Amino acid sequence: MSFENRVAVVTGAGSGLGRGYALELARRGAKVVVNDLGGSPSGEGASASAAQIVVDTIRSAGGEAVASMDSVATREGGAAIIQTALDTWGKVDVLISNAGFLRNNRFEDLSDNEIDPIVDVHLKGAFYVGQPAYRAMRAQGYGRILFTGSSSGMFGHAWQANYAASKAGMVGLSNAVAIEGSAYGIQSNVLLPNALSRLEEVMTPGYMEIPAFAEALQATDFSFADGRMPPEFTVPLAIYLVSEACSATQGIYSSNSGRYARVRVCEAEGWVAPAGTTPPSAEDIASHFEDISELREFSLPRHNYDEFTIGAQVARKQGVHS
Ligand code: NAD
Repeated sequence: MSFENRVAVVTGAGSGLGRGYALELARRGAKVVVNDLGGSPSGEGASASAAQIVVDTIRSAGGEAVASMDSVATREGGAAIIQTALDTWGKVDVLISNAGFLRNNRFEDLSDNEIDPIVDVHLKGAFYVGQPAYRAMRAQGYGRILFTGSSSGMFGHAWQANYAASKAGMVGLSNAVAIEGSAYGIQSNVLLPNALSRLEEVMTPGYMEIPAFAEALQATDFSFADGRMPPEFTVPLAIYLVSEACSATQGIYSSNSGRYARVRVCEAEGWVAPAGTTPPSAEDIASHFEDISELREFSLPRHNYDEFTIGAQVARKQGVHS
């Protein structure tokens, strides 16, 4: 799988997963913008060395890379990161939006200083770097975008409401980008990575005080994951998703301890209220709540309007409309 003549931008590429993506893209021939602000795992401080060390590693192996220490968390920073690629190599083919950090706390205690920077770096950061990249990709009729979500956002995690909400936002963002980008050769997907990284340092153990969560963690079988947690296990999925070989778009893909799996939001067949102009009551909903919740039959809407088409099919099936 070659990336010769491709220009890739990887944000947060100074450490962990981003570093792994940048090294592998470069090894496969891509010219890489290695972006990293160089702050701490909780987003404090900045340093040019984080990105530069990875650039030096790529260059010493014979690859091509440039460093950018602009922050993804501002519109100017996002524009500057993409401009670095355009100024150096004249195009952007691949964007892996990966930069981020954690500020965990109980939901009820999350302060603005724990909400705003997390939304800025994960959710708004994906817009700030994604928009200029998309414009460049649209002009050339080709692009691969990979947004970094998290199983915390898709499935839930205690003490991470700020982060989970931002990461779940990647799904909505990527869905829209994939649908709009389909006319211009742009594919967009979400990766739910899992890897031991320096973020472990700021995983406050306090969330273990939640009984259901502590119980679930104790019951979790981590044994199969032994030795399979470094970023190198997630890198191959990311590389495939941003390659020319991949035609998947609007997807969500998980990499967890050597298991790779698509994640999909589905919709239950549900219950269709009797035809007519009278809306059902809350009591009607209550008495049909089992049917509404039952997932034995489900659909996979590809977009907003699919819900109407599927709804009409279900209504016919349930004999509500012919
Ligand atoms: P990491 O801390 O090793 O890497 C994140 C990098 O982003 C750091 O080098 C950091 O300096 C950089 N960064 C932070 N703020 C930035 C900014 N404003 N502008 C540019 N760079 C910035 O952590 P990681 O585990 O490699 O995480 C990478 C991504 O994967 C993150 O978005 C994280 O939320 C996500 N993720 C990680 C895991 C996991 O298990 N490690 C699980 C789910 C999601």
